[in-house]
Amino acid sequence: MNDFGHDGFGLADLPLRDALRGQTPYGAPQLEVPAALNTNENPYPPSPRLAEAVGRAVAAAATGLNRYPDRDAPKLRAALADYLGHGLDTSNVWAANGSNEVLQQILQAFGGPGRKAMGFEPSYSMHPIIARGSGTEWVPVPRAPDFAVDVAAAVAAVEEHRPSVVFLTSPNNPTGTALPLATVEAVARVAPGVVVVDEAYAEFRREGTPSALSLLPSLPRVIVSRTMSKAFALAGARLGYLAAHPAVVDALQLVRLPYHLSAVTQAVAVTALEHAEELLGAVDRLRAERDALVDWLRGHGFAVADSDANFVLFGRFEDRSAVFEGMLERGVLIREVGPPEWLRVTVGTPEEMSAFRAALLEVTGRA
Ligand SMILES: *Cc1c(COP(=O)(O)O)cnc(C)c1O
Repeated sequence: MNDFGHDGFGLADLPLRDALRGQTPYGAPQLEVPAALNTNENPYPPSPRLAEAVGRAVAAAATGLNRYPDRDAPKLRAALADYLGHGLDTSNVWAANGSNEVLQQILQAFGGPGRKAMGFEPSYSMHPIIARGSGTEWVPVPRAPDFAVDVAAAVAAVEEHRPSVVFLTSPNNPTGTALPLATVEAVARVAPGVVVVDEAYAEFRREGTPSALSLLPSLPRVIVSRTMSKAFALAGARLGYLAAHPAVVDALQLVRLPYHLSAVTQAVAVTALEHAEELLGAVDRLRAERDALVDWLRGHGFAVADSDANFVLFGRFEDRSAVFEGMLERGVLIREVGPPEWLRVTVGTPEEMSAFRAALLEVTGRA
């Protein structure tokens, strides 16, 4: 450590905003382990063919890096709209560096001091963090014991608190629970502000589970956020996006930093979308692996939340930290997240999942 670490100066000595005092940063561990099943990444990397195509696109972009990128990323947004379908076009789509940045822009535009954002917990821990970062009061509403959102309770909470932003995560992280469209509709009909349906895991949902994209034409204050981090196996590229009424896109242009999406990022994402079929090819395998995992866990007497995502929440453990540590000792990194007696595991390759199963049986003595 250099001299800067030795003078006893710390966070407390800085003029930190009150809302940030005592907070901890988002921090999933990044450890080198044989089976990293903790951050819901896609375990299948891009193929050499696709990696080469990305390389060529980046090389082409490199020749123009003396110029600022296209601020409005029209080519990328058109490709994203095309991928989503549902009659959407460029004017309905907005993109940023990960859906976390999209969500931050939404809070910057529609939240802020004196305003509230609401979410149904347990859910994605970044929603309250992003809300606080923008000075927006966070209002958590508990989910039902089966992790569903109780419609009457949700509507009552929205009517009581009048939040400017409501988050509905579907499929939900960390529980895997998808919401019926009727729930989204009921909340959107009473919400005075925008309703963000965070569909980061949409591509993994089971047959018959709908997407809120179909609600956009009738509910102009609904925003559907998506990401290329999970199904598209592109977490390292940082590309998130949303679909909404064009007026929402106009609003976000007021808060986005100029040139926020680099020319390199735009080129990588456009190329990845040209290879969507290949990238999404692994999604079916992961869905099948997920369903098999749910069956296996239930077969061994574990409690498991229904999952429409690429991860599974399972329990229940009196001491989940002991199970987490035991798994880690055996080279399997999972996630201590969500309600106290539960753990979350990301669906990996068949090899990673058999390592997970073997380790879990040993650690819990259920062999
Ligand atoms: C992973 C995840 C995101 C995606 O974040 P990116 O910034 O796009 O990588 C968004 N929402 C939820 C619920 C997630 O789990």
